[in-house]
Amino acid sequence: MRRALLWFKQDLRLDDHPALQAALQADRLLPLYVFDPALLRPSPLGPRRLGVHRARFLLESLAALDSGLRQHGSRLLVVQGRAEQVIPTLVDHLGLEEVLTLEEMAPFELDEMRHVRHALGVPFTVLPGNNLLREEELPRPLIELPSVFNKFRELMDERLYVFQPRSIPHTLPPLPSGASSLMEPLPTLSRLGLGEPLGTPATAFPFAGGEPAAQARLRDYLWESRGVHQYQESRNGMIGSEYSSKLSPWLANGSLSPRRVAAELHRLEAQHGRSESTQQLWMELLWREFFRWTLLRFGSALFRADGLKATARAPNNLDERYLRWCNGRTGMPLVDANMRELMMTGWMSSRGRQVVAAYLVNDLEQDWRYGAAWFEEHLLDYDPASNWGNWAYLAGVASDPRRARAFNALRQARQYDPDAAYVSLWLPELRGLPIEQRHTPFMLSEPQFAGLDYPRLEHIPENWKPYISSAA
Ligand SMILES: Cc1cc2nc3c(=O)[nH]c(=O)nc-3n(C[C@H](O)[C@H](O)[C@H](O)COP(=O)(O)OP(=O)(O)OC[C@H]3O[C@@H](n4cnc5c(N)ncnc54)[C@H](O)[C@@H]3O)c2cc1C
Repeated sequence: MRRALLWFKQDLRLDDHPALQAALQADRLLPLYVFDPALLRPSPLGPRRLGVHRARFLLESLAALDSGLRQHGSRLLVVQGRAEQVIPTLVDHLGLEEVLTLEEMAPFELDEMRHVRHALGVPFTVLPGNNLLREEELPRPLIELPSVFNKFRELMDERLYVFQPRSIPHTLPPLPSGASSLMEPLPTLSRLGLGEPLGTPATAFPFAGGEPAAQARLRDYLWESRGVHQYQESRNGMIGSEYSSKLSPWLANGSLSPRRVAAELHRLEAQHGRSESTQQLWMELLWREFFRWTLLRFGSALFRADGLKATARAPNNLDERYLRWCNGRTGMPLVDANMRELMMTGWMSSRGRQVVAAYLVNDLEQDWRYGAAWFEEHLLDYDPASNWGNWAYLAGVASDPRRARAFNALRQARQYDPDAAYVSLWLPELRGLPIEQRHTPFMLSEPQFAGLDYPRLEHIPENWKPYISSAA
């Protein structure tokens, strides 16, 4: 291999990157990222595939990758366009002889890779690297993997130590001649037509994109602040940066390798012992792994209204209640607070995601796919397998036999936000109410409600009645 191109996609890192390791054999190497502006146009379900918060995070991640490459004698070329046009053009123009990249699991990305392969006249090498295991290391062939998470987890626990992340290489091959003149400054949010997101001091994700920030957070959470030791008790929190690891946005765009996280977690356990907290975090990483292999196995079927269950009957309505949900104006404070947090910051806690998704599907009886599409645009950590997998799971149309998860939103509010601190943070219009009324403004009399710039809930579900009083 003399002159090669390394195509970065959802793997924006130098650490534990098998395609980068393979590309070290090249005499000359062009690191490339292709930004497809079609991501900014409305998807068939309405929302864009990429919104302002994740776009900001992506640009920060690309800047960090470029800076990491420069420290090792290289640079990142970022080109706007479609990969199947951009990559063959560059290969021809610079006389490149091979393209390397990491594998993907989702149908859209797999299609994109197929198109690139067909358009290329040189070898196209795809290596695994964004999962804990390679396909051949799975405990069973893909089509025989359990469709229920607990069974998957039992099998995976037996394969704990098969992966070994590889560190950042010391030196990288120089750029091919002629490549430097193609380099341009990174696009900006305003040049992409997105505007700047407003900084929100209350954000639970105050971190920057990119590999150094990811490594710093991993180090801090595991070894310095040692937040991981409280994970079991804190993981249902909704306020602040410390209730959970916050690793998901970096894992989603690949600034952080899941194998690095797992290896560090196991190193921590080897030094300080296993605890319920470390094991719970490991289990969450296995959920990620489960959804990724499930998506590879079932492909585009996961995105259908009846998901992976031909017999399921998920609601398929779409009316103004969906828009009220999107905008945090349903009249159910816990749901609205979470949806406003998402819109303002791109972040929502795991607890919040479960509550709002179940509310959209079960209480508002709307088509789950539109909820998933809204999350796709707005989440900082959007990942096709985890997003659509969790949505399908909550809507009762995933691969496991259970039906839709019923959540009592008011009970959740009383349990996880007992002092109404979370709803007060994101719904300023309720701050004037006594604390014990902030979860139930729909119980106020007409005159009390009149001055409130907040929608009145039309229907109070029967099973909320035991939780109307904050003493419940
Ligand atoms: C409706 C819905 C949509 C979701 N969409 C996404 C998404 O697009 N991208 C995403 O990364 N996660 C998604 N999740 C899963 C989960 O909510 C987030 O991974 C988690 O909240 C991220 O916070 P954290 O990094 O602090 O997680 P932690 O609680 O610290 O967990 C550590 C890591 O484990 C993984 N993980 C944890 N929970 C899950 C889970 N339920 N499914 C898959 N992986 C998990 C993540 O990689 C996470 O970073 C979704 C969950 C729901 C209910």
